[in-house]
Amino acid sequence: MDLRVGNGYDIHRLVPGRPLILGGQTLEHPAGLGLDGHSDADVLVHALMDALLGALSLGDIGKYFPPTDPKWKGADSLVLLEQVMGLVRERGWRVVNVDTVVIAERPKLKPHIESMRAAIAARMGLEPDQVGVKATTNEKLGAEGREEGISSQAVALLYKP
Ligand code: MG
Repeated sequence: MDLRVGNGYDIHRLVPGRPLILGGQTLEHPAGLGLDGHSDADVLVHALMDALLGALSLGDIGKYFPPTDPKWKGADSLVLLEQVMGLVRERGWRVVNVDTVVIAERPKLKPHIESMRAAIAARMGLEPDQVGVKATTNEKLGAEGREEGISSQAVALLYKP
């Protein structure tokens, strides 16, 4: 059985006047901040897509959904994730599992983890137990710690039956 692993990373700025969407869920930030970006700026799903593309050396999401293209303005990242899964499947690959972590000081993500996993799994055609979503603060260190942004990292393991 052929196996491939990929990793992904993304960070978006926290700004006033934008929604905070993580794992397809709209959350409330205690300071009213949201993530800036051309699409819905779902940093978790962006890192995940790059992990999937990376596993097959297909480039990164900027290649498929360039921020210069007005078509992707405000795009629902879960819809983009479905398209990335299409690229994976049409090449004959399947997902063993994916794992992700979100680095954010606030809000508390724990109450939303299960709904994020369910939403991501549904769009990927997976079971929730194939989708890891974890959250950590940055102990007030660095950009995430100062709430200048939220970042995410992801890995994906693929197999070819
Ligand atoms: Mg991004």
